[in-house]
Amino acid sequence: MNIGVLALQGAVAEHIQMLCALGVKAIPIRLPSQLDSLDGLVIPGGESTTISKLLYEYDLMEPLRLLATKGFPLFGTCAGMILLASKTTDLRWQPVGAIDIEVQRNAFGRQIDSFEADLEIPALGDKPFRGIFIRAPIVGRVNSSVDILCRLNGSVVATKQGKAIACAFHPELTDDSRFHKYFLDLVTGEPIAQGSSR
Ligand code: GLN
Repeated sequence: MNIGVLALQGAVAEHIQMLCALGVKAIPIRLPSQLDSLDGLVIPGGESTTISKLLYEYDLMEPLRLLATKGFPLFGTCAGMILLASKTTDLRWQPVGAIDIEVQRNAFGRQIDSFEADLEIPALGDKPFRGIFIRAPIVGRVNSSVDILCRLNGSVVATKQGKAIACAFHPELTDDSRFHKYFLDLVTGEPIAQGSSR
């Protein structure tokens, strides 16, 4: 299985390491032609404005939008979640639109307000998942076609639509690979636990 990790900016190496540990080939992606060989693509955390700018510069924005309309497996973390949304509060650019959610950038505050929290994510089993939130977004409006995978104090922080998933936190910065495994199961079409709720 070939899984790409968008490698324009952000926490690229950590995703590659976690995917390799799960036994898949993880490929850093910088060119549109590299998308052809992939079974799934991870969009890492970083700075969504910078990544979006680079997506246009590297001619990757339109190919990503096309993949999204085809239901291609996509996994966005933090800035990656903002990029996969259909709308953000930052009106300077239009995200990819793989998941029909509206996302509020930096909703938990500034860098200093970064925090960790134990999250209940039924789709990953009973054991809590350690969520690392770094200037994280919150999901506001959620279309009815979108599954909510996790809430934190009532705010939506992880979602799924078809084979596209996104979370406001950073699973790649933990040593818990269950979120990545969940994505790989979506890619291969393995039956996964019905843990999502609305
Ligand atoms: N605050 C960043 C943004 O808006 C996201 C931060 C992150 O990915 N850790 O793009």
